[in-house]
Amino acid sequence: SLGRVVVIGGGFGGATAAKYLKKWEPRLEVTLVERNQNFVSCPISNLVLAGVKQIEDITIAYDGLAKYGVRLVRDEAVAIDVDKREVRLAKGDPLPWDRLIVAPGIDFLYDQIPGLDSVEAQQQVLHAWKAGAQTVALRKRLEELPDGGVFAISIPKAPYRCPPGPYERASVIANYFKQHKPHAKVLILDGNPDITSKKALFLQAWEERYKGIIEYRPNSVLQDFDLRGNVAKLEFDTVRADLFNVIPPQRSGRIATPLANVGGRWAGVDFRSFESTAVPGVHVIGDATASAPGMPKSGFMANNHAKVAADAVIASLTGLPPNPTPIIANTCYSFVSDRDVVHVASVHKFDTQENTLLPVKGAGGLSAVANDLEGKYALAWARNIWADALT
Ligand code: FAD
Repeated sequence: SLGRVVVIGGGFGGATAAKYLKKWEPRLEVTLVERNQNFVSCPISNLVLAGVKQIEDITIAYDGLAKYGVRLVRDEAVAIDVDKREVRLAKGDPLPWDRLIVAPGIDFLYDQIPGLDSVEAQQQVLHAWKAGAQTVALRKRLEELPDGGVFAISIPKAPYRCPPGPYERASVIANYFKQHKPHAKVLILDGNPDITSKKALFLQAWEERYKGIIEYRPNSVLQDFDLRGNVAKLEFDTVRADLFNVIPPQRSGRIATPLANVGGRWAGVDFRSFESTAVPGVHVIGDATASAPGMPKSGFMANNHAKVAADAVIASLTGLPPNPTPIIANTCYSFVSDRDVVHVASVHKFDTQENTLLPVKGAGGLSAVANDLEGKYALAWARNIWADALT
């Protein structure tokens, strides 16, 4: 073969990278390591919380990758041995690589919220920020919440996975309450000073649709949590609610620790190739990377990172010149009800002077006020990206 490429993590980034490596250069040996049985999509998972979709609608098997010749290893990567150039697994034999792509997504920094830094606490207070069992469990609790109850969602300081995701979640749950529990409330405790994505569009939707249901409180950094009283401790305040959804502060997935050279949390990369700035020959893509200016941590971005990285890996193993100025794009759709959607789009081009990806001026922008045509686009987008990554 031309070389062995190992990909850690079969999410939006890793699955796309593994598929496109084989599609573009079948002579490579490509091994994808994934610990989960199925792919469960975070995009559209807020509609599962709202009772509009089922978990089956966002769950996809991994067997579609076999036809490209991707070897799937269902195991947990437990260490990256940079000197030996191999990935150690929990169960199987170590996997040697000529090039490694690391795409583990995020992990949570529970040590920043002492009251939640235990297994029991994390079973009681769910994040549902990795789609799967927690999505189903949080939906069940929302169904059990009495009419008149308060659901509180805590948002960490940026950067975190999916900047508009918490506001989408608040919106679609408010819509569920409006229809099924008209006296229940959604309280948003935002660790940021303001809404960080699509602000005007969200505020308009809340004003027109959820007046008296959604309450937004900026600068509400969660500092601790009292499990017995179900009380969130903020800097100057304590807040009780009937049901909490705490999205904790985040970092790159733990397996990327040797590569997390930006603030000890995120992996710095050369944006022409997504090669790590910490370890040569290793590429990092998706949420685990330290984002370039104006670049969100999104599934769409992870999918685009994957293609730039796959191209660069093939170039390095075949001696072809790499693309000097990659261009990638993003669209984030957000549901504000069971069918009406808003979006933000952007294009990012490598700037040789600044040595990073920068938003292209005049490209992209915001959608019109929430509407159901955008809702159709949003569902079509999801089906397309799942197919692009996995089938
Ligand atoms: P992931 O997709 O999380 O994949 C990482 C994979 O690696 C996982 O399958 C994990 O099991 C595996 N893994 C990790 N460590 C190991 C290990 N040591 N061994 C083996 N396997 C490992 N993005 C959009 O573009 N549009 C949206 O509409 C959108 N909506 C969202 C809504 C919500 C509620 C949330 C939470 C996110 C949303 N996102 C959306 C963001 C999107 O889900 C993430 O940006 C995307 O999943 C990042 O892709 P990734 O490949 O970096 O990580």
